Amino acid sequence: MTSFPKTLFERIADREIPADMLFEDDQCIVIRDINPQAPVHFLVIPRKPIPSLDDLSIDDQSLMGHLFLVAKEVAAAEGLSGGYRTVFNCGRDAFQTVPHIHLHVLGGRKMGWPPG
Ligand code: AMP
Repeated sequence: MTSFPKTLFERIADREIPADMLFEDDQCIVIRDINPQAPVHFLVIPRKPIPSLDDLSIDDQSLMGHLFLVAKEVAAAEGLSGGYRTVFNCGRDAFQTVPHIHLHVLGGRKMGWPPG
């Protein structure tokens, strides 16, 4: 049987690589981004290693909703009462660098629009 190498985020979830873990449950982990683009920048990552938004299936519908509910709770715990930006980078043109789907949550400063 072929076994695929773990993604970076699976290795973090399995505690093989250290990270600043803000929250975890049976479906996802939340870590601070190692290269923050805002005063608060964390990633909500499903344990299931879905490569990108393009790889979602109908089975992932409730998981994706869960990620947003967790994002909202952690944003509140991080004091982002003034608002925050949520981003899924998908694919080359969006500069997705880790092929394991993750929701960026950025806050603590005013965000520009349009995004770069
Ligand atoms: P993306 O470019 O959308 O795929 O986002 C990947 C994000 O993962 C980037 O913002 C990186 O800074 C972040 N990142 C990469 N390695 C780590 C790590 N070891 N711990 C926390 N965040 C990481």
